[in-house]
Amino acid sequence: MAGAGLGEFELIRRYFARAGARPGAGTTILGIGDDAAVLRVPAGCDLVAAVDTIVEGRHFLGGSDPRSIGHRALAVNLSDLAAMGAIPAWATLALTLPAADPDWLEGFAAGFFDLARAHGVELVGGDTTAGPLTISVQILGVVPAGEALRRDGARPGDLIAVTGTLGDAGAGLEIARSPERPRDAHAQELLRRYEFPAPRVAFGRAARGIASAAMDVSDGLAGDLAKLAAASGVAAVVDVEGLPLSAALQAVASPDEALDHALGGGDDYELLLAVAPAAAPRLAAAAAGTATPFTVIGTCRAGDGVCWTRGGRPFVPRRGGFDHFGGASTQFTD
Ligand code: ADP
Ligand code: MG
Repeated sequence: MAGAGLGEFELIRRYFARAGARPGAGTTILGIGDDAAVLRVPAGCDLVAAVDTIVEGRHFLGGSDPRSIGHRALAVNLSDLAAMGAIPAWATLALTLPAADPDWLEGFAAGFFDLARAHGVELVGGDTTAGPLTISVQILGVVPAGEALRRDGARPGDLIAVTGTLGDAGAGLEIARSPERPRDAHAQELLRRYEFPAPRVAFGRAARGIASAAMDVSDGLAGDLAKLAAASGVAAVVDVEGLPLSAALQAVASPDEALDHALGGGDDYELLLAVAPAAAPRLAAAAAGTATPFTVIGTCRAGDGVCWTRGGRPFVPRRGGFDHFGGASTQFTD
């Protein structure tokens, strides 16, 4: 890519060819600099791979803090590995940039590498091109052979649980889009939840062998729980009065709006799990052991779909989940 005074080679060298990840879950035979990376998975492990792309104006607002963009580009992938119970090891980064802006690259790299270091992820390759701002991260992790958590394992009778609180990021995005809104401490907290999500990697790993199914909540609980139920071939029953909502969300939103965010807002990156009742205390202990807030929100039964109630009465979520091609409620352009 021809950047103003900063060529592609120099850009990669200066911002991305960094040593310094602590020894991760696998062995890097060859990292950045050759035509491809060569990676060794520990004996007895399965390789777990995921990729996510974020596009300006679609997944983040134009003019967003580059540090947040770098953080989120990796966080969404770490969340996918967390949902599989996998240990992250390596990432590759495909970066499409409108310009080689040193300030932007500095911030982006800081956000990306701060999170990478925290999770022992090594950047081992990528691609750099010119074009509309688009960031694609592929993540590679490992899991003991056959032990990955999946979304198709829930059984009738299982409990349904989520980590953390729901709807904060959706409310944070709304605040980010309304610069005229006052930014009190609650608003700041919700913005932080949107801009710097903390993927539940340690808990996902601890839930391995205990949870019967898991997935991450990236598109809103309503849509994501429907996906888990469908994959498992069960029905889910949830009373929305029992959903974990943060004090910040309840302070800035009415009860109905808070539910809209919790059910239909995206970007929470919490984990949604199913667990047999007998194993639930062990899962709660795994949550406590990883300092992860954990709430049982419902049960699985024979059938299909999600049966929502509110204080025992039938309830229909006002907003469905995010779907890029399905007339989504939360996508935006600018
Ligand atoms: P090639 O033309 O063989 O695909 P490139 O010249 O695109 O290689 O890249 C040179 C090296 O730099 C490769 O090892 C590639 O993986 C790495 N690389 C390119 N862009 C990035 C990036 N944004 N982040 C990390 N590594 C990158
Ligand atoms: Mg090549």
